[in-house]
Amino acid sequence: MTASNLCRGLLNRRAYAVALHAGIVMFVICISPPSASSDGIPAPNGPFFDVPVRWCVVEGSPALVSGADTDALLLLRLAGATWNIYNPDPNPDSFNRPGSNTLIGLSSRIPNQRNPFQRIADPCPPSANCPGELGDILDEMPFRSDEEDAVISACRAAWRTNLPDNTGIIAVNVRRLVGRSGAPTGTLGVTAMPYACNAIISANICRDPKITNPGDMAAVILTDASFTGSSDDFLVAHEFGHALGLGHGDGIDNNGNGVFDECCDPSEIDTGKSLMSAGNGSLTITELQQEVARAIAFVTPGTRYETLAFHPGPSPQKVEPLPPRFDKIIPSLTKENFSCGPNTITYSASAGDNRQGNGVRCVKIQNIESMPHLTWYGEGQWQGQTYRHIGEATPGCADRPLDFCGAAADIHGNGESFNNNFPGKIIGFKATNGNWPAPNEIRISGAWNEVWNKVTAINYVPLLRPTTCGSNFDEYAVSDLNNRRQGAGIRCVLRKGSSPYTTAWFGNGEWEGRTYSHVGIFRIGHAISGTIGGGVGGASDLCNSALGQFCNNFRADSLRFTSICESEGEGRPRRRFRGFKVQGAWSEVWDFGPDGPCAIER
Ligand SMILES: [Zn+2]
Repeated sequence: MTASNLCRGLLNRRAYAVALHAGIVMFVICISPPSASSDGIPAPNGPFFDVPVRWCVVEGSPALVSGADTDALLLLRLAGATWNIYNPDPNPDSFNRPGSNTLIGLSSRIPNQRNPFQRIADPCPPSANCPGELGDILDEMPFRSDEEDAVISACRAAWRTNLPDNTGIIAVNVRRLVGRSGAPTGTLGVTAMPYACNAIISANICRDPKITNPGDMAAVILTDASFTGSSDDFLVAHEFGHALGLGHGDGIDNNGNGVFDECCDPSEIDTGKSLMSAGNGSLTITELQQEVARAIAFVTPGTRYETLAFHPGPSPQKVEPLPPRFDKIIPSLTKENFSCGPNTITYSASAGDNRQGNGVRCVKIQNIESMPHLTWYGEGQWQGQTYRHIGEATPGCADRPLDFCGAAADIHGNGESFNNNFPGKIIGFKATNGNWPAPNEIRISGAWNEVWNKVTAINYVPLLRPTTCGSNFDEYAVSDLNNRRQGAGIRCVLRKGSSPYTTAWFGNGEWEGRTYSHVGIFRIGHAISGTIGGGVGGASDLCNSALGQFCNNFRADSLRFTSICESEGEGRPRRRFRGFKVQGAWSEVWDFGPDGPCAIER
C-alpha cells in the first residue's frame, strides 16, 4: 500500500497493527493540502494536525537529573496530553483513535523535524531577591513576573540562535513556580497566547481565528512533571490549549453572540465544565474549542498534516483533573501587541509638533548595488483622521545633514481620511539616537514633521486590510502565474514618473485562504537579460495577525518582472501594456487594469 492510498483512505487499523508487530516505526505523511472546508481550515474529520513543540529546560529542573533521557521525558508529557486528553481512545484494545477528538497532536519529534530540547540558565538563580531553589521561577499571581517573561525570552532566544530553522510552540520545563517566600504558589502553568487575550484588540481573530499569525509568540511554562503527578496530562493539555488559542471557559457560546469564553467574550457566564475551565476542569473539549484549536494549529508554523492511524500513543491512563486556579494566561500581549515582525523594523510614530495621534512604521533598510534604500509602510491616525502610506528614500539629499530623503504617498479608498502625495525627495530622515540600519530614533522633516521610535511592540490596533490603492499608485490585480494557488491580491506601486527608477510597493491578498501583506522595492526598467521593459524587486512580509499570516522575506532583486504587452487592432497594431509576469522567488501575474502604452518601460 502506498502512502497516497493511505492518505486517501480511512484509518487502516490492520496495516498499523502489522507494522507494529513487525517492529517498524512508520509515519505516513500526506503532503498534499488536506481536504478543506469553505473557510480554508481542513474539515473536522480531516487530517491529524501534528503541532511541533520546542522545549527548553531550566537548569535545576528534575528533567535534567543525571541519567535521565530528557528528550524522552518531555516527549512523554506531550504524548500524555495528546493521547489521554486531546484524542482519548475509547477502546483500550484498539490502536484506532476515532471518536470525538481534536485530531491535534503535540510533539517535539514531528516527521522531518526533530526539536532537541535546549538547556537554559535559571534567569534568577537563588539569592536574596530570587526565592526558591535552582530552576524555580518567581510567580506573582495574577500578574506576570519578570522572571516568567525572562525564561520565555531566554527559551525563544536559544531556539532562534541554535536552531533558527526549527518551528513550534515554545515550552519551558521549570522546576516549580514559587512565591516570594520560596514556597509553591499553586500555579502550575503559565501561557502566553498566540494572540492578545482581549475581546477588543482581538475582535477579528475571535470571529475568525485562522487569521491569527502566531509566529513563535505562543509559549508555555510548565512545572516539572515530578511535581504534577497524575494530573500532568491535564496540565499539559490545558496549557497547550491556551497556546492553541483557547481562553478559560466552558467552551460554549452561552449568549449566542458568535464569540465565546474568556478572551473573546468575557461577559459570558461559565455554565459548565471543560478542559479550559478555570476551576473544576473536566476532560470535555467542546466543538467550538476544537474549531478554534484546529484553526490555530493550522496557522502555527511547522504544523504537519498526517493520517491518524500511524500514531501510537501511550496506554490510556486515568487522568485526574487539577484543582481550581492552577494556572494563568500571561497578559503581556494585551499591553503590547503590534509588531511588524522580523523582516522589518517596528517604529512607533508621533508628531513632531502638537498634533494628537500615533501610528506604526515598518521600516526596511537594504543595500542595493552599494546604495542603501529605505522603504517603509506606515499607518495610524492624526487627530482621529486615519492614514496609510508607503514610501522610499535614499541618501543624496540637497540638504546634506539628512541621512535619507525620499517620497511617499497615501493609500486611499479603504476608509482612510488622507489622500496626499509627496513626490521627489521632499521627506527627510535623520537618525537622532543610534545608528543605521536600525537607529532608536529617527526625525522626519521636510514635508513631514514626525518622530519615529524603535519598539519591539506597541499597543496599536491596526486598520482593516486595504482592497484598493487609490490615485497615487499604479494598481495591479494579482493571481498565480500558473493557477496552482487559489488566491488574489493587489499591488500598489508608488508612481514616480518615467523609468528607470526605484520605488516602493505595497501588496496584500491571500493564497489558499491565508492572508499576507508586504512592502517591496521595485527597480523598474532595470535591465536584465532577456527582458524589455520590466525590472527586478524584492519584498518583506509584514508579520502581524491583522496584516497577514505569511512571514517571508524575499531579498532585493530576487523577483524578475517582465512586461506583458499585447497587440491591439489591425494593420499597424497598437501595443497595450497589460501588466507584469513576476518570476523568481514568486510566480504571479500582475494585471494592470487601464490601458497603458508599452513604449513606456514600466
Ligand atoms: Zn488556564
